[in-house]
This record gives sequence, structure tokens and C-alpha cells, in this order.
Amino acid sequence: VTSFKNQKLALFGLGGSGFATARALIAGGADVTVWDDNPDSVEKARAEGLKAEDLRELDWSALAALILSPGVPLTHPKPHWTVELAHVAGVAIIGDIELFVRERRLRSPDCPFIAITGTNGKSTTTALIAHILRASGRDVQMGGNIGTAVLTLEPPQAKRFYVVECSSYQIDLTPTINPSVGIVLNLTPDHLDRHGDMQRYADIKNRLVEGSDIAIVGVDDSYTQRIAERLENANRQVIRISKHEPVKQGFYNDGHRIFLGTEQGGALVADLNGIPTLRGSHNAQNAAAAIAACLAVGLSEDEVRSGLASFGGLKHRMQPVGRRGKVVFVNDSKATNAEAAEPALSSYDRIYWIAGGVPKVGGIASLSPLFSRIAKAYLIGEAAPAFAATLGNDVPFEMSGTLEQAVRHAAVDAEADGAEVAVMLSPACASFDQYKNFEMRGDAFVALVAGLKDVTMLVQ
Ligand code: ADP
Repeated sequence: VTSFKNQKLALFGLGGSGFATARALIAGGADVTVWDDNPDSVEKARAEGLKAEDLRELDWSALAALILSPGVPLTHPKPHWTVELAHVAGVAIIGDIELFVRERRLRSPDCPFIAITGTNGKSTTTALIAHILRASGRDVQMGGNIGTAVLTLEPPQAKRFYVVECSSYQIDLTPTINPSVGIVLNLTPDHLDRHGDMQRYADIKNRLVEGSDIAIVGVDDSYTQRIAERLENANRQVIRISKHEPVKQGFYNDGHRIFLGTEQGGALVADLNGIPTLRGSHNAQNAAAAIAACLAVGLSEDEVRSGLASFGGLKHRMQPVGRRGKVVFVNDSKATNAEAAEPALSSYDRIYWIAGGVPKVGGIASLSPLFSRIAKAYLIGEAAPAFAATLGNDVPFEMSGTLEQAVRHAAVDAEADGAEVAVMLSPACASFDQYKNFEMRGDAFVALVAGLKDVTMLVQ
């Protein structure tokens, strides 16, 4: 990226995107000094030939900007020391997505750029949009919070589509964000530890759509409702998304059917029935936003429908991974607390549920309205005794102990059930007692399913 050619920059936060950003800036002729509070990262940077020096030693008056990793606190619970130094010196603080948007403006300001934020469903919606665009033959670059640092993507050029997931931390570091299409899916209290209060969190998300040519706003909560109204009052182009009520300027759903709402009424645009990776009303919200975005950047309804139908889903998020007869095996390892397990449990009628690990405060009590869907629970890890106590006499359960035992027993019971059922890993717990992270737990589940006799795998 060339926007800081021959200028001095400080970069703090040497995670994956920090390194990618430093390399991209240096390749573009910037003079970058990097640092991290973790000495190992500093060591690694030096081994790579980066200039790593304690940023406290720098002459901040000579800096053009501080490039910050989105993990570093700007305000809450208190500003990081680099943030304080930047404020004192009057140095701008930006992140890698800001560098990307500047690069886009320099190189190819008209290339389609879809940015997605929200409390929940960001990654699913991002992956779905990228998939639909790719399936229709577009040149697509996907990155941001979903995992690929934006500065490792191919550079902006005409007819190249960018689909970028933005966390609120990243938006906070992107003062001039101006996507062609900006999406705010929903806003519920989350990450308040980092942002302080809900209004500030909403204001940050709002900035994404404020800067957009076309704004797509999920209007099912009060904060996003206000965001949509404000934009409409300013005569901005807003496409509303609702999973609860017919909207007149946008897309809504009645269960699995998605309609385009106008003043004249609704017209069916897509039916998610039979798309296993898009079950549940939360996914109808994600799909409606994806449909709106893809149509807005010029795809036909046919292209959108065929892309939806072939969506493979995201790993570890309610992903159907195998099938045997009437039994579908679902990997929802990403559900590391009860709230996150709720959509998966709501999306299947009869479930052989594998749960447990390191429990979060509150356990699974909040899931009790869904207990009637659980044919039997298979409890693993540290949480097993507490979860057993909550299930009590309402839900049959066994203390499986390990995931291996749970999969084996659940597969047998589900087959004997005879109905259309799901064997689902949606643990409502962190994984650290038995696995390094939720990805490894999910991979272990998939491997165990693949090891069952006569199972047809739906993923590689
Ligand atoms: P994010 O990237 O915002 O964390 P994901 O797309 O990775 O969201 O989905 C994570 C989990 O959040 C899913 O497994 C599902 O349980 C839940 N979820 C997904 N989409 C939504 C939505 N639109 N509304 C509420 N919850 C959702």
C-alpha cells in the first residue's frame, strides 16, 4: 500500500494481520517501526528483518500515523499506552482496513466493496456473499475479521469484488470507511467490556453504514431501527432487512421464504427450504442481507438463487458434516456459550445433543425453553455434572465424558430413533479442558463422524 510512501509510521500489535500490514506498508515505501507487549512477537519481527523498537523511544512528532491491531483497547477499560502517546502527539490512529480503503480510493474507487458488521452472523453473511459472487463467476476477495488480513488480498482493480467482515473494533480504526454496500445485521449488547456502553457501540456500527453508498440494515432491534431511520431521514439509500415483519423497502422472511417488500406488497425472491447450511430464522436474516447486497452490486435473482443453493456453510457453525439415513451430523463447535448454542438448538426439531467442556457463567439454564427438542444429551468435559443437574428430569442424558464416546453413543441412539434427527455438537462451553480451541474440537467431531460405518460425508 502506497498511501504512506516515505512517511514514518508506528505499528503496534504483531498478530497475523500486524505482520501482513507491516509488510504491505514497507513494500509501499513506508518507514515502519513495529512493537508488541509480547517479547516473543518482537523477537519474531526482528527475525523477519522488521525494525522493532520500543515505541516509547520514538519521536512521535515525526509520525504520520499509529497503525493499531484491532485487539488493542482504544478506550475501554482504559486506552493502551500507545493510544495515549498518539493522543498526546496528535497522531492519527488507524487499522489495516483503513489502509485498504485508502488504497482502493487511490487505485480503483469504483470497485465493488461490501462491508459487513453486526453483533451476530457477520462471518456467515460475509462467507455467503463471497460464495454467491464467486459462484456467479465474479472475481472475489474476502477478508477482514473473518480471518484473512485485508492487506494480503489482491490489490483493488475494476470489477474485483471485495467482501470484508468488520468487527466494531476494526470500524473504530477505519475513520474514512466508504463501502459501496455497508451492512449492519443486528445490534445486541455484546463486547460492552471493550466499548463501554451500548450507545457508543451502536455509534461505531453506524459509521459503517453512514459511509456507505447503499446501506443494508437489519431493523429488528431498537438501535438498528434508529440507524435506518436516521439514514432515511437524510435521504440515503437504505435497504431494510427484517425477520419479524414485512418491510416496504427491503427484504423480509416468513420462516424460510425471503420476500422483496415494496409499497405494493411482497414478491418471493428465494426459498431456503432444503438448503441445510441456511436453516433457522437467524440464517434467514443473514441470507436476506446477502441477497440484498448481491442484487445491489448487479447480480441477477437467478445468480443469487443458485449461489444460495450451493452454499457450503462455515466450518464449526451449525455445519451439516455427515449423513446416515435419517440422521444428520452437525458441527456447531463454535457455540462456546449457551447463547451461541441457541440458534442451532432452535433449528432442528429432534436433537441428540453433545454438550459440555468448560462452562460459562449461567450454564445452560437459559436454554430450557428448547429442552423439549432434545431427545437425549451426551455430556462431556468439566461441565457435565452441572449440565446434568440443569437437565434434571426434563431431558434424558448420559455422562459420556469424552467426545469420542458421545459421538459413538449418540449415533447408535439416533439411528434407533427412526425419525429425521440431528446428532449435534453444540457444546455451550469453551473447549480448553479437552481441546486447544473450538476448531480442534470441531475437527475431532468431524473425524469421529467420518469414522462411523456407512456415513456419507458432506464435507472433505
Ligand atoms: P459472527 O461472525 O458475527 O460471530 P457467525 O456468522 O460466525 O457470527 O455466527 C456465529 C453464531 O452466531 C452462529 O453459529 C449462530 O449461532 C449465531 N448467529 C448467526 N447468525 C445470526 C444472526 N443473524 N442473528 C443471531 N445469531 C446469529
